[in-house]
This record gives sequence, structure tokens and C-alpha cells, in this order.
Amino acid sequence: MKAVQYRRVGAPPEVVEVEVPEPSPGQVLLKVDAAGMCHSDIAVMSWPEEEFPYSLPLTLGHEGIGTVSALGPGDHSCSEGDRMAVYGPWGCGLCHMCAQGKENYCDHAARLGIRPPGLGAPGAMAEYLLVDDERHLVPLGDLDPVEAAPLTDAGLTPYHAIKKSLPKLVGGSTAVVIGTGGLGHVAVQLLRALSPAKVIAVDVSEQKLELAHRVGAHHAVLSDESAPGKVRDLTAGFGAEVVFDFVGNSATTAIAAKCTRTEGDLAVVGIGGGTVPVGFGSMPFEVSVSAPYWGSRSELIEVLELARAGSVRVHVDSFGLDETPEVYERFHRGEIPGRAVIVP
Ligand code: NAD
Ligand code: ZN
Repeated sequence: MKAVQYRRVGAPPEVVEVEVPEPSPGQVLLKVDAAGMCHSDIAVMSWPEEEFPYSLPLTLGHEGIGTVSALGPGDHSCSEGDRMAVYGPWGCGLCHMCAQGKENYCDHAARLGIRPPGLGAPGAMAEYLLVDDERHLVPLGDLDPVEAAPLTDAGLTPYHAIKKSLPKLVGGSTAVVIGTGGLGHVAVQLLRALSPAKVIAVDVSEQKLELAHRVGAHHAVLSDESAPGKVRDLTAGFGAEVVFDFVGNSATTAIAAKCTRTEGDLAVVGIGGGTVPVGFGSMPFEVSVSAPYWGSRSELIEVLELARAGSVRVHVDSFGLDETPEVYERFHRGEIPGRAVIVP
């Protein structure tokens, strides 16, 4: 089968021929219908050799939808032909976190070498994907697979971050979304669906701000040194109750820290290497700062239900597997609004 692999640190990904995997007991083989392209893939492909945590070659893709094509020995509740969304942050399934469905925070995954598909384990940018356990699958129902693939990360990750802050997103409140790309443009829609908050989008790209506006942001602010002042002007001088940073570099964490209100929440979701100074006098009083990772199994079920109800719709452009290396380059240059989805 064809697969998109990152084969050598620093080299671009390649489309190669690999063996179709065979499912072992408990495992499920999916024929991939769609695989989303995430900025985290670009981060992975920019890590230096000495810090690179996975073995190579690595088949990319951690947002996957597929149709059950073969079942490993043993009992399964899904059947061949069922279309499934893949829950990516695999855990051990047994620890206290996993027992709550929070496999994204599994206590043992790192020690046991359990890695998400595309982020250590072979990923979804291939004709077939091996899923280690059927608890990592959620039935897709009648959702469109191409539009649904990004929901497994670009939907689930903002949903998890937003859900935690919902008690602060009351009438009269404001939420700021910094970086309205793949994750951010879904975040805007989730905020509109789940809360009465006023939503301010902040991005460096006019095109991404235009998309944010189209999907429900009340205000759009260009991301530069004047952005915190503009957010304050839009919030009677106080700042926003909740700020989500989907870039997370030093420029955006500085903006985020300056526009969060007293007792507000600041979630740094982007992995751009920026930090937020926490200490008396460095921030308004009692701001809670977090760096959330992905989401729980139950939250993925909830996100898919929101899509089914029409509350979120990912803006997608689809491409064939052979085009993937070139699409990564366009994505890296910031030329793809919404999400690029690979259809093998
Ligand atoms: P993306 O490239 O689709 O979107 C990023 C957006 O940020 C773009 O619209 C871009 O124009 C904008 N941007 C860039 N620099 C900016 C700046 N200085 N100020 C404001 N906006 C700026 O990326 P994505 O796939 O949505 O991922 C977003 C980030 O989230 C990445 O860092 C990714 O690695 C990370 N991520 C984290 C998790 C997690 O669990 N924490 C999960 C998925 C992705
Ligand atoms: Zn991702």
C-alpha cells in the first residue's frame, strides 16, 4: 500500500510502498477514507535529530477516518464495512486517567511506549491504518469522512480546552482565539455553539481572519503589538475572560498574557515554544494558565454529535495521497485556510 512517511530528520516526507499490516488479536484494520494534516506534523518534522523522540520511518497522520476492513482474532463489536473515527491519543486503557476516558493523559503511555498513530505509531496518511484496540474507534454514522477527519484533533483539542472554561464564558463575557487556522477556526464555532461569549479572532493572516469572521467571530484583530490594546478596547478595558492561544510562540503568549482578564483563563494550545510568565505582578490577579493536550474519548463522541447537529463544520480542502508532500509545503507557507485533508 502507499503511505506518506517522514523517513529522515530534516528531509521532506515521501510517498512510499509499504506492507499492508495484519491485525493481531484485538486490533482493527481500517481502510483509510480521510486523514487530516495538522501543524503538529510540521513541528515534528522540524525537531532536531538529537531530540527526535520517534523511530523512523514514521507514517504521518493523527487525524483519521476509516472503514473496518479486517478484524484481528477475538470478539469485536464493530464489523467489516463500519465507518469509524479514530481516537488518537492512545493510552494503556487501565490507569486512573484512562478509566475516566482521558487516555490523552494516560499515566503509563510514555513508559510503555504507547504512541498515537502518526506521532510514533504508523499513522493515517496511508491506504490502511492499524488501530490497536476498538475502544479507540467511534462510529462515524452519516458524517462526511473528509469533513469529519479534522474533528478528531482540530475539533477535539479546542473542544477539550473550551469545555474546561465554560463556567467563565457567561453572558457578557469575551473569548479570544489567537491563531484561527485548523484548530482555531473550529474553536470559534465551538465557542459560538456552546456559549454566549463574544468571540475575538486574532491572526497574522487577513485570509484566516476572514474565515474566522465567516464561521462566527464577532471581531477580527490583526496579530501585532497593538492587538492587546484592541482586545482591551473591545472589553471595556478589562480584557477577555478566556484566551486560547493556538500558536503558542513567544509573540502570541505575550499577546495572550496581556489580554486575559483578572480571574480569567489562558490556555496555551499551540506548541510554538512560547511561555507565559506567572508570578505576582506579572499578570492580572488569579489568572489560570494551562497547556492542554488533545481530549478524552467521551469528548470525541461529543464533538462528533455537535457536527451531526450542524453546530460545527470544518472548512476542508481535500488532496490525493501523492500530492501530500507538496501540500505540506503549502501548509508550511500558511497557504491553506481551514484544514487540508488527504484522501488515499
Ligand atoms: P494552522 O497552521 O492550521 O493554524 C495556525 C494559525 O496561526 C494560522 O492561521 C496562522 O496564520 C496563525 N498564526 C501564525 N503566527 C501567528 C501569530 N504570531 N499571531 C496570530 N496568529 C498566528 O495550525 P493548527 O493545525 O491549527 O495547529 C495550531 C497549533 O496547535 C500548532 O502549534 C499545533 O502544533 C498545535 N496543536 C496542539 C495540540 C494540543 O493538543 N495541544 C493539538 C493539535 C495541534
Ligand atoms: Zn494535531
